[in-house]
Amino acid sequence: MTVNPQIVRDPPLTGVWSELVGQEKAVAVLRRAVGGQAHAMSHAWLLTGPPGSGRSNAARAFAAALECAEGGCGACNDCRTALSGAHPDVTLVRTETLSIGVDEVRELVRRAAMSPSRGRHQVVVVEDADRVTERGADALLKAIEEPAARTVWVLCAPTPDDVIVTIRSRCRRLHLATPRDEAVAELLVTRDGVAPELAAEAARAAQGHIGRARRLARDEDARSRRDRILALPTGLNDLGDCLRAAQELVAETGQEAAAATADQDARERGELEKALGFGTKGARPRHAAAAIKDLEDEQKARVKRLQRDALDRVLTELTTFHRDVLALQTGAVRPGEEQRLTGSRLVNAGIADRIRQVARSSTSDRTVRRIDAILEARTALETNVSPQLAMEALLVNLAPRG
Ligand SMILES: [Zn+2]
Repeated sequence: MTVNPQIVRDPPLTGVWSELVGQEKAVAVLRRAVGGQAHAMSHAWLLTGPPGSGRSNAARAFAAALECAEGGCGACNDCRTALSGAHPDVTLVRTETLSIGVDEVRELVRRAAMSPSRGRHQVVVVEDADRVTERGADALLKAIEEPAARTVWVLCAPTPDDVIVTIRSRCRRLHLATPRDEAVAELLVTRDGVAPELAAEAARAAQGHIGRARRLARDEDARSRRDRILALPTGLNDLGDCLRAAQELVAETGQEAAAATADQDARERGELEKALGFGTKGARPRHAAAAIKDLEDEQKARVKRLQRDALDRVLTELTTFHRDVLALQTGAVRPGEEQRLTGSRLVNAGIADRIRQVARSSTSDRTVRRIDAILEARTALETNVSPQLAMEALLVNLAPRG
């Protein structure tokens, strides 16, 4: 057997690391830290990477590996509970509201200072460190500056710039690259049993977002939702179409968000009512009304955030369509390259005909302006502009004659 000396492979991804396809380099760094090699460990980490690159999965895997006697076997009780969030020494923070405030951070700092109950590490994973408020960041900074001996903070954010400089300068930084389509497609085929053609299409469409690729490959509703969004650029003939489509998008994403939280809302309400002593003697109605109002406000904010996230995904899909159009108009993707999995290719290769048609009937200037309009809509959604207005303005700009 001959071995090509130019191919140097990182160790295979096993145990808790097995989902982190395309992240072999980052995994190697984390494994060295878990293995306790000198200078490899830090009490504060900042994992960065674009959405879907797996930064929160990497953080959870790291937490599990730190608790596991085998360094992340993936099968033991420590691994399983750490990954699911049930491990007593692992705190996973994923905010469902728009920010993580100072009170929440203080609670984390308190937990981080506790001795680990099972004797290894006290790990606090903050999946949206970019959402920590300014006052929260001050509290966090103090904790990171004076860490307890066996505490490990794992902060996740899209880029280092999303975390204040005083915090990021005290963290070991690790960047997760977007995994290549080939790696994602292979994962879908080998682990999820998806047919190769569908896996390739889902991997291309998800652009390195593994969770999204898996959902597209396995969930027909997700695929048909995406198809409807991609039909918009060629389906808007007049102002009426634009307004109707905007209304539908807002209504659909609103329902999607409400459905996603309905069970949790009801559970939280039930727990609160029980805690307030509903139906028992000695309940305090005035106090109860205020507490219920607070919970309702919190739940509304959560639905609002989820809806904006869903609309943001719509914008991402629309961007891929117009990027594909631009790629054909500028010759970045040439005929025959559309369906490839690496290098120049179309994200939406499955609808190459429609993309060709739009590319022929407009100009690259026009396409660039449309992509700008999508970016403007994204900015508008981040502020307090109503989703309805933001989407209407966008679709008018995307319409062929707009
Ligand atoms: Zn284990």
